Amino acid sequence: MKVLKFGGTSVGSVNSMLSVKKIVEAVDDKVIVVVSALGGITDKLINTSKMAAEGNDEYEKGLKEIVNRHIEMVYTVIPAGRGREILLDLVNELLNELKDIFQGIYLIHDLSPKTSATIVSYGERLSSIIVATLINGAVWYDSRNFIKTEKKHNKHILDSELTGRLVRETFDEIPEVAVVPGFISTDKTTGEVTNLGRGGSDYTASIIAAALDADILEIWTDVDGFMTADPRVISSAYPIKELSYVEAMELCNFGAKVVYPPTIYPVCHKNIPILIKNTFNPEAAGTIIKQEADHSSKAIKGISSINDTCLITMTGLGMVGVIGVNYRIFKALAENGISVFLVSQASSENSTSIGVRNEDASLACEVLNEEFAKEIEMGEISPMKAESGLATVAIVGENMKHTPGIAGKLFGTLGRNGINVIACAQGASETNISFVVDGGSLRKSLNVIHDSFFLSEYQVLNLFVCGVGTVGGSLLEQIHGQQEKLKQERGLNLKVVGIANGHKALFTRAGIDLGNFRQELEEKGIPSSSQVLHDEVIGMNIFNSVFVDCTASEDIAALYKDFLKHNISVVAANKIAASSSYDDYAELKRIARQRGVKFLFETNVGAGLPVINTINDLINSGDKILKIEAVVSGTLNYIFNALSADMPLSETIRKARDEGYSEPDPRIDLSGKDVIRKLVILAREAGYRIEQEDVEKHLFIPDSFFEGSLDDFWRNIPRLDAEFEARRKKLEAGGKRWRFVARLEDGKGTVSLQEVDSRHPFYNLEGSNNIILLTTERYNEYPMLIQGYGAGASVTAAGVFADIMSIANI
Ligand code: ADP
Ligand code: ASP
Ligand code: MG
Repeated sequence: MKVLKFGGTSVGSVNSMLSVKKIVEAVDDKVIVVVSALGGITDKLINTSKMAAEGNDEYEKGLKEIVNRHIEMVYTVIPAGRGREILLDLVNELLNELKDIFQGIYLIHDLSPKTSATIVSYGERLSSIIVATLINGAVWYDSRNFIKTEKKHNKHILDSELTGRLVRETFDEIPEVAVVPGFISTDKTTGEVTNLGRGGSDYTASIIAAALDADILEIWTDVDGFMTADPRVISSAYPIKELSYVEAMELCNFGAKVVYPPTIYPVCHKNIPILIKNTFNPEAAGTIIKQEADHSSKAIKGISSINDTCLITMTGLGMVGVIGVNYRIFKALAENGISVFLVSQASSENSTSIGVRNEDASLACEVLNEEFAKEIEMGEISPMKAESGLATVAIVGENMKHTPGIAGKLFGTLGRNGINVIACAQGASETNISFVVDGGSLRKSLNVIHDSFFLSEYQVLNLFVCGVGTVGGSLLEQIHGQQEKLKQERGLNLKVVGIANGHKALFTRAGIDLGNFRQELEEKGIPSSSQVLHDEVIGMNIFNSVFVDCTASEDIAALYKDFLKHNISVVAANKIAASSSYDDYAELKRIARQRGVKFLFETNVGAGLPVINTINDLINSGDKILKIEAVVSGTLNYIFNALSADMPLSETIRKARDEGYSEPDPRIDLSGKDVIRKLVILAREAGYRIEQEDVEKHLFIPDSFFEGSLDDFWRNIPRLDAEFEARRKKLEAGGKRWRFVARLEDGKGTVSLQEVDSRHPFYNLEGSNNIILLTTERYNEYPMLIQGYGAGASVTAAGVFADIMSIANI
């Protein structure tokens, strides 16, 4: 004999009802079918009754919806003449009773728990008679006659002995198909209607299966089985093939809603397997829960959580070594019907934390303060401290037993993602590690753990890319081109979860389609601002995330600090942060180090050339940078290389701007500001404390040209052409060339226009190329030379990409 339970969604729509009929009629054994109320009806009954009790006549609308749902269901699933008329009479009778009860509470403005229990019972009573008519040859049984409860601590608890006996008596002879309403019961002494708690139909089915020694208990629901995590939170969760009773119990108790927690015990006791199946996809294998489950694969089987957590902490030296303190805590709580789901006590014994549901928190504090009133008064124990708004997560698996490193991996993963563990507990059975985090970190915690324990074949890096102009746009194209290959060959899933430009910002956890990002941003983006970026990026609280700044904006650079503090790595093409005040730069680096995240800005100097990384490698291996000489302005080099008799200064500047070699405002390049920033960054990375103001500058354009607007500048600049041409001619005649050189020596920085002859390594620097000469203790007689493209969107984007890859660390 089999017991099949169908949940609310399984009987919630016409199609699912017809699936239920098909599934049950295909069983070639006797079967007892337990059904829930039509999906959503229990909630509707509760809400409507509350409205009626408040005297809100909107309740009538709710009632009408309840009536219509059932009447429509009867008309659509039961063909005329096939018992439909008798069923309609029964359904209408029940609905009329319900209507009278609602009217009663509406008039007297009172809703007792007893009336409430009566009202919700109509959900299962109605659904079960519909299903009983739908399935050929089915016989309906009223579970109120044999599921019996008794009142303890103000709660209705199953009387399992009496219930077991009554179930056996009722099903002394089992028909081919029996249909039973789940969830509902009656009090064994008063006979009043009670129930087994929300989600209790699973329990009804388990009680019946155990009492009758069924071969199997099948729970038919709306997912492909018991999943590795709640699929509503973790989109990559997948069905678990096998679970042991212990594992299932641990997961259910901690919020895996798919099975109501008390369900496991009765069948476990009788060693009856539970099969979780999907009514909407009966072909899927589902999950089998039994005594001995397969433990060969992953270290943990599943993750579950509850966000309704309050941690009550009792501290005081008066507890240390005193026998009976814990006994008193649990006795006081038990006597008041308060359930404790997590306990954490260090061996020093001077503090004990217990996890309870938020609704129990104030009573728990009250009874504990009362129990320990004397000790509190004497100052031996502090009054109870309650911390609410928390969430508890549990990782579960019998495989954890004797497997070292699981807790290390768990807490390491959480730490790297900036998640603070407030309390934790692991019993010596080693099948469950539970920990408490701030409620706001729950989703992120579940994601990082799921990712690290279940999806380790792919490492995920979540990117926010700010600035989708030449560099950012090129970066996104490069990522798009590499995404599949990185996944297949390197096991890295690079997911762009946010993009933004100055006007629009788009965020999506699932990842943005990079084939079409500009259009997506335009169409689906929200108005962008640095505040929006700040709030969204931090608010999404997404794991393994990197903020990539491809702008030149000061406002965006100002966000790094908060991002790093929230364990979000930062990759900046933007030079502002690394070249701003030394203290700010140092603080960003310090926060990154403390948080275990990265702050990288290789492209700040020499675009994609490995300059900063090289300096870091030299220093980390004990070398000392003595001197840096560099041509690091692609723009200025371009300008000096382009100058000729046919092309005067003003035109080369315009051309540099038009071809994207200069900043949109070329004065930033011409004023030496850009070179100074780069020099400051190199010097700092080389270990020198230096500010932009400390750099001596010898410019080739008089200061007056930098005053006024950009338009003024464009108007005035041709005035320099003639003089420059004269100087250039002289230079050419002497066989020399101009290079704008940044120099660091003895910790002092200068930028100046220098004339170099053909023997100088800077002489042959083509186009917008950069060159960096590093004189170090080791590279002394012959300095190290790094040379190549120093500007351009695609090489800069490639440098940013390389920084991102170094964070992935694959
Ligand atoms: P039913 O109405 O069939 O009793 P429930 O809504 O009570 O269904 O339970 C099924 C739901 O439980 C799924 O739709 C899913 O959203 C949720 N759920 C939470 N955690 C898990 C998990 N670990 N595995 C499967 N489902 C889960
Ligand atoms: N209908 C009840 C509820 O919604 C019982 C169940 O579905 O298991 O809680
Ligand atoms: Mg359920």
